[in-house]
Amino acid sequence: MLARITISGYSKKEIFKEPSGLNKKGLMFVILTYEMENNLYVNVTNKCPNACDFCVRNVEDAFGQDLWLKKDPTSVDLIKDIFSRNLSQYKELVFCGFGEPLENLEEVLSVCNEVKQKSKIHIRINTNGLANKIHKADVTPRFKSLVDSVSISLNAKNAEEYDALCHSIYGKDAFPAMLDFTQKCKAYVDDVQLSIVDCLPPDHIQECRKIADDLGVTLKIRKEVK
Ligand code: SF4
Repeated sequence: MLARITISGYSKKEIFKEPSGLNKKGLMFVILTYEMENNLYVNVTNKCPNACDFCVRNVEDAFGQDLWLKKDPTSVDLIKDIFSRNLSQYKELVFCGFGEPLENLEEVLSVCNEVKQKSKIHIRINTNGLANKIHKADVTPRFKSLVDSVSISLNAKNAEEYDALCHSIYGKDAFPAMLDFTQKCKAYVDDVQLSIVDCLPPDHIQECRKIADDLGVTLKIRKEVK
């Protein structure tokens, strides 16, 4: 889940810490982890069942283009990269991807398992909440003891608006599936949030707040970064 990112304050030199293969442009380095806002972000996959209007993947020559991967990294690649860093200097380890991280579910969980054994760092997954659709099963029990926080993009106040904005391959089923995923996560993850951006009209934000309240989760209003 990656949208509206900014590169301010992040040099490629810092990011290109660990050479891991060839990227889409045939360059020598692949970004598997990068620093942002005192957190360490993990680039897990470029796959996603959505095609959101605001997705940074749509922006030619955006910083995000350097996050394109020729193939999904393995947990071995990711673990090697993550532990080449000093994890104690970060607030959180965030699986974000330049796509939907839970498309690469097995590798994400394998990395979480390894990190939990060796570090106390807080683990968050930023997701579109469609993993149960993607994997055709309820994957949320697998987060137990491995994931501390799940932040799910709500994006809209109903299925029609979500479909118009996110163009999911699941059509209007995506929105209720995302809400159902949110509900299910609560049983296994301590901190479950729905997120929206602050550019939505106040009445939309109010309706989104009601959705979050009804589900018993926090509504996180992110600053839109252009
Ligand atoms: S859900 Fe997929 S298409 Fe939408 S912003 Fe996230 S990565 Fe991009």
